Amino acid sequence: MESEFTNFIHDIIEKDLEEGVYDKVHTRFPPEPNGYLHIGHAKAIWLDFSTAEKYNGLCNLRFDDTNPTKEDIEYVESIKEDVRWLGFDWEDRLYYASSYFDQLYEYAIQLIKQGDAYVDDLSADEIREYRGTLTEPGKDSPYRNRSVEENLDLFIRMKNGEFPDGSRVLRAKIDMSSPNLNMRDPVLYRIAHVSHHTTGDKWCIYPMYDYAHPISDAIEGITHSICTLEFEDHRPLYNWVLEKIGFKNPPKQIEFARLEVTNMVTSKRKLRQLVEENFVDGWDDPRMPTISGLRRRGYTPEALKDFCLRTGVAKSKGTVDIALLEHCIREDLKLKEPRIMAVLNPLKVVITNYPEGQIEMLEVENNPENPEMGTRQVPFSRVIYIERDDFMEDPPKKFFRLSPGKEVRLKNAYFIKCEEVIKDEKTGEIIELHCTYDPATKSGSGFEGRKVKGTLHWVSADHGINAEVRLYDYLYIEDEAGGEPKLNPDSLKILTNCIIEPSIANAKPGDRFQFLRHGYFCVDTKYSTEEKLVFNRIVSLRSSWK
Ligand code: ATP
Ligand code: MG
Repeated sequence: MESEFTNFIHDIIEKDLEEGVYDKVHTRFPPEPNGYLHIGHAKAIWLDFSTAEKYNGLCNLRFDDTNPTKEDIEYVESIKEDVRWLGFDWEDRLYYASSYFDQLYEYAIQLIKQGDAYVDDLSADEIREYRGTLTEPGKDSPYRNRSVEENLDLFIRMKNGEFPDGSRVLRAKIDMSSPNLNMRDPVLYRIAHVSHHTTGDKWCIYPMYDYAHPISDAIEGITHSICTLEFEDHRPLYNWVLEKIGFKNPPKQIEFARLEVTNMVTSKRKLRQLVEENFVDGWDDPRMPTISGLRRRGYTPEALKDFCLRTGVAKSKGTVDIALLEHCIREDLKLKEPRIMAVLNPLKVVITNYPEGQIEMLEVENNPENPEMGTRQVPFSRVIYIERDDFMEDPPKKFFRLSPGKEVRLKNAYFIKCEEVIKDEKTGEIIELHCTYDPATKSGSGFEGRKVKGTLHWVSADHGINAEVRLYDYLYIEDEAGGEPKLNPDSLKILTNCIIEPSIANAKPGDRFQFLRHGYFCVDTKYSTEEKLVFNRIVSLRSSWK
């Protein structure tokens, strides 16, 4: 499927190849290691890598690590893990913008010598004031016309650590009255006396993104530099830098619309805040829209890639309904995972006419939609658990599950009829049901007698395995009035007393199942222990996606 997908970026690439603008395709994914990757990055990774793949090209992984104050090696490692998990391979092309610091510095010297860059002594606030607005042109800095010699001297001294942070910057000399604010003498270098995670204390000046990015692309021989729409207005600067330095056959920047999904936020800053304020239990909390969170929740790389494909690549902004993401994971798991019985909120049922001590092994299909998955044996016995919600003492008319005097089918087993409701003497809470079963009604026996409307899942009490199940609601609630989404205070529900059929006995962290009627679940990789499995609900079964 992937080789057939196409979009406006591929149209541009095909035209470039046809016209001989480039004779190959080379892309890159350039994350800044200042947080964990989120679902929006998954889209960028998918687009960068699968586009290269489609044209037999290459895609680099490049850490855009030009801002040491916010960056950390922990993020570098998590990003590598996430890209690999999605199924993409940068082979030996792992790069860091920081490994180009020497070249970036030399090119800055070149720009100064050409008269295309100058050292400015204005403060950050003054620079902002002088920049003007969308409706007013900017003003030239009083330092704009320094001589090349003076600029060289000051820049070298900036590099040598002679000046404090914020006292001077290197700026491109372009046009203070440009209608594009990015072209009003943008800052190229700033002073920051901080250690860098790869270069240590070698540098106390650091290049700005708009300067480092095009040069990094050009050094690596990138042909198509795909980025998100907010960089569209930076493209003239991207091209200016490459032209002034004189790269032959420079890369081409192409922008597409960011992926935004309802009930999710895709801002590292906001996600970091959730982690720092302990609203979630880390970047990989199963509610987080991070790749690591989705992985821990139980999402598959296949489902995420399918989602990227289905959401398309557009030039205009839009928000995708989270229901589409949920649809993609259901579709992926439908034929892959076994369907088993789990009682999340148990109510004890004693089948009074079933022989004490008797156990029947029932043969059950692992996945009725995929017979190749074979069958398993599920034990049936006198005492079972059913879902508390599946019984009502005083049911409304259309309640087809269990109630006093009514009959239902137990999935893959027998009809049972509720004969007696046992309650706690003090609280009045229902603690147990006494039922009878009809031996003639065994599932698969060809019983053609009376019909029942309800089929309930159940677990044999002596055989069931106690587990914890975590149900999730959206982390963010959309504001119907169109404002900012709000944090959902009730996004996590922990059920500690669930009983699951014994086929999960050997389940390992990361294993997935469908629990009949409840949805798809994944064994949690963080909280599961030898003694107790913890399951995350990936998604419920009901689909609202059309
Ligand atoms: P954030 O705004 O969350 O901090 P960012 O854009 O600053 O994200 P980077 O690490 O710079 O994060 O992003 C790496 C690449 O991923 C960039 O090319 C960026 O355009 C792309 N990207 C980031 N967010 C999205 C998104 N929501 N949809 C598609 N691509 C994205
Ligand atoms: Mg960025």
